[in-house]
Amino acid sequence: MCVFCEIIKGNIPSAKVYEDDDVLAILDISQVTFGHTLVMPKKHCANILEADEETVLKCAAVAKKLAKQIVENTKATGVNVLTNCGESAGQTVDHLHFHIIPRYDENDAITIKFNPSKEQDLGQVLKVVKGE
Ligand code: AMP
Ligand code: ZN
Repeated sequence: MCVFCEIIKGNIPSAKVYEDDDVLAILDISQVTFGHTLVMPKKHCANILEADEETVLKCAAVAKKLAKQIVENTKATGVNVLTNCGESAGQTVDHLHFHIIPRYDENDAITIKFNPSKEQDLGQVLKVVKGE
């Protein structure tokens, strides 16, 4: 069984931030920034691509509310809400989860940076993205 299913079942301890019938939110053990929280469905699904829409929407609604609550209570100046999907995207636990990462200043322990890459023909990109 996956580590988050074990947490949901209560077999592994966690610091619960929020719980309802379908969704659990816990403090991330790594605390990449103060208040780093994970929101996950209680029903196992591997990632956002595998999950059904209802499950994603339930998690997203909780993530939105908690992001606001956490920013207010931690006095963060910003927040990243993200989900990693697949090894290449940095997913290490194959159970859908949204990270809520409060941000404090440019020198906190996380960097999310969009570096410029080689120029693309957007018309061609659009065709591929739309499956044309
Ligand atoms: P990801 O790399 O997006 O799959 O994120 C997985 C996250 O789960 C990491 O940030 C880990 O620190 C966190 N994590 C792994 N095991 C536990 C645990 N037992 N309790 C809380 N967080 C965990
Ligand atoms: Zn699981």
